[in-house]
Amino acid sequence: MQLSINEIAARLGIHALPHDRVISSLLTDSRSLANAAGTLFFAIPTDGNDGHRYISELYELGVRNFVVNAIPPSLHEKNDINWLVVGNTIDALQRIATRDNHFKGHIVGITGSRGKTTLKEWIYQLMEPLSDISRSPRSFNSQIGVPLSMWEIDKETSLAIIEAGISKKGEMERLAACILPDTVIVTNIGDAHAEGFSSRIEKASQKLMLASTPRTKTIIYCSDYPEIADAVMKYADGRNILGWSRKDEDAQLYIDTHITDKGEMRINYVWEGVANSFTAPLDTESDIENAANALAFMLSQGIEADVIAERFHHLHKIGTRLNVTEGVNGCSIILDSYTSDFSSLRPALDFMRRRRIPRQSSTLILSDLHHETSPTGNLYTEIAEIIRTAGISRFIGIGKVLSEHRELFPENALFFESTASLLKNLSTSDFQDEIILLKGSPEFSFKDVAEMLETRKHETVLEVNLDSIVANYNYFRNSLPSSCGIVCMVKASGYGAGSYEIAKTLQDCGAAYLAVAVLDEGIELRRQGITMPIMVMNPKVVNYKSMFANRLEPEIYSFGMLKDVIAEAEKNGITGYPIHIKLDTGMHRMGFVEEELPALMDIINSTDTVYAKSTFSHLATADCPDMDDFTELQLERFNRYTGYMLERSKQPILRHVLNSAGILRYPEHHYDMARLGIGLYGANTLPPEMEKPLAVVSTLRTVIIAIREYEPGETVGYGRWGKIERRSRIATLPIGYADGMNRHFGRGNISVMVNGKEAPTIGNICMDACMIDVTGIDCEVGDSVEIFGQNLPVQRLADILDTIPYEILTSVSPRVKRVYFRE
Ligand SMILES: *Cc1c(COP(=O)(O)O)cnc(C)c1O
Repeated sequence: MQLSINEIAARLGIHALPHDRVISSLLTDSRSLANAAGTLFFAIPTDGNDGHRYISELYELGVRNFVVNAIPPSLHEKNDINWLVVGNTIDALQRIATRDNHFKGHIVGITGSRGKTTLKEWIYQLMEPLSDISRSPRSFNSQIGVPLSMWEIDKETSLAIIEAGISKKGEMERLAACILPDTVIVTNIGDAHAEGFSSRIEKASQKLMLASTPRTKTIIYCSDYPEIADAVMKYADGRNILGWSRKDEDAQLYIDTHITDKGEMRINYVWEGVANSFTAPLDTESDIENAANALAFMLSQGIEADVIAERFHHLHKIGTRLNVTEGVNGCSIILDSYTSDFSSLRPALDFMRRRRIPRQSSTLILSDLHHETSPTGNLYTEIAEIIRTAGISRFIGIGKVLSEHRELFPENALFFESTASLLKNLSTSDFQDEIILLKGSPEFSFKDVAEMLETRKHETVLEVNLDSIVANYNYFRNSLPSSCGIVCMVKASGYGAGSYEIAKTLQDCGAAYLAVAVLDEGIELRRQGITMPIMVMNPKVVNYKSMFANRLEPEIYSFGMLKDVIAEAEKNGITGYPIHIKLDTGMHRMGFVEEELPALMDIINSTDTVYAKSTFSHLATADCPDMDDFTELQLERFNRYTGYMLERSKQPILRHVLNSAGILRYPEHHYDMARLGIGLYGANTLPPEMEKPLAVVSTLRTVIIAIREYEPGETVGYGRWGKIERRSRIATLPIGYADGMNRHFGRGNISVMVNGKEAPTIGNICMDACMIDVTGIDCEVGDSVEIFGQNLPVQRLADILDTIPYEILTSVSPRVKRVYFRE
């Protein structure tokens, strides 16, 4: 969309501004700046950060229009700026980007706990030849993402699909007022507590607020979910309530599905008394839900059964992931298997910019796009322009259409008519220290290019879901008051998940601190561009110079360390350096004890080299409800010790004592910060009846590299421990104890997941391989195998070894490649 700054001011009730300009981009994150002249920046305060901090920097880059709470004094004198001063900048963003009264098209709002993005993409694919569609990029569904998506809708669009996600009561009303949807689809509501609601009923009724404006005429939902069905009834008056069911044959839309011999899904449905059916390339339960919602929408739009059947037949189950993997020669590979279209290009480039480490240059490999128009109608000029402004150093275009437009692109751009021709002409040695974004339509099979560029064909990988990290962070964030900062523990290489990607994600979440175990981990994070505060928990410091130079803040647990750090600071001319004082309240591992506090405070008060930024202690039994009296004793001591320190201190000292289990069980003892570790990585440490709905972060995955059948009497592996007692099919996996596959997992002690079925290990685990019994399981060489993850909780493996999830997660050897992805 485009509006003049004065039209925008009018929407906020602000009088005419000094400089009349046309605004085409709304910006909320300074790192995403693309077009300075046409940008209006919203300075948004968030947990641990504040957009107002970036205004001067943006001014230097040419931005001249700002929505702020207050004008920064340093820019008071500038007279070329339009300032829109408001009480709440998010609210202003929502008001500016509200549905335009003149918009004639249809807006679909999608809400629910799971499947929103997939459903949006499916409706897009199914409706695309029938209408001119706009949709929110990826999962832009928050208080900020929704208005940004609304802004992208242009006048000619006939159908806009917008996702709306909420995490608290009261948020949906605001999104509803911004979107004003004609149709609302509610997918499902998931667990009661997962998103910060007190019950499923409350959650359903909050989500349904999306349909609360009089603009909404149709609500689509699954009537098999009782909480949703109840919540919908509130809005039954004057609206078309379209409930579908898999159980109730009398529902408005009745659906029945089965998988055909060819492995396709046949969907039979009854709509307005007429039975119809079609097949689609689908297979899972969540596919059925998405298909039913999309079908209901198409029916509500009066689309004929034969058109529906034809469209579903061609549905692509496209991945919605951005996979980041390590590539050859210092490269990183981002494979965007999302639909290749114009509207998803900018967010993908933005993702790339954020992932780039300083020594890498940026390369974009792009295929021809689907037949689509751009906002200005001149698609390829626009792409060339985006590439120029996004700082891409190298562009490689694949496909006939891009090749025909080569004169629009920079001189060093390369073009190939097909993916095969690229693979023939380029090899791994053509790439060095680059972050490479592969963005191609499915028919271009960019997976082959990614495979060529990956360090080695990953056979055993640890897949890390960065969205789960964010979800778990938010889960704990919501358990604490917003004034309480979060220290995220990324020690032991992020509990095995890898430190840089995790640190980067948490920095973007607005965490207050990162904590690493040793100095080298901190130095590595700085080298890769992590700028947020970092504390070092176990600084056996040999090099204070690099500690100071990298702004790494040590944990101090003894007088010896304290004296060393003061002496080194003096030697290096350092003053006012933050340190963190560790107290021993009962763990008896390290830290100052009560009797030492007077002397400690004397030293701290008498130096200006260092100051106590924070003080903390660690709970030994927060996850053991039967030892709560000990936890309470530790908390009481902590309160007393720190009370004394604060009294003696010349300046405030932050306090923190809770770990993951502590946050869940003793949130009232939050003090100023909390230290979040294992919970971030999705492992539950509380007893089963107290478990929380955390999102699974890590999946250890491998592939079958050989399969053979053996007769009874044969044996498998070293020492002949795997006895074959019936004719058996045995598969070999390239993972052994050197990868973290503990030897005690052998001899049938655990099962792994192969194509949805559990297969036990057989025989001893070898150093680099192990064998499993896949008799009766439909599988072949190349099939993926899960060792732990979504289907096999880490806790199960921990139980076998009589240990805790922490040990399983940190035992995955560094030689196992980590692959990061976001939905
Ligand atoms: C590891 C660690 C934590 C985090 O504990 P979790 O149980 O993983 O949440 C907190 N504080 C200290 C000092 C730690 O060493």
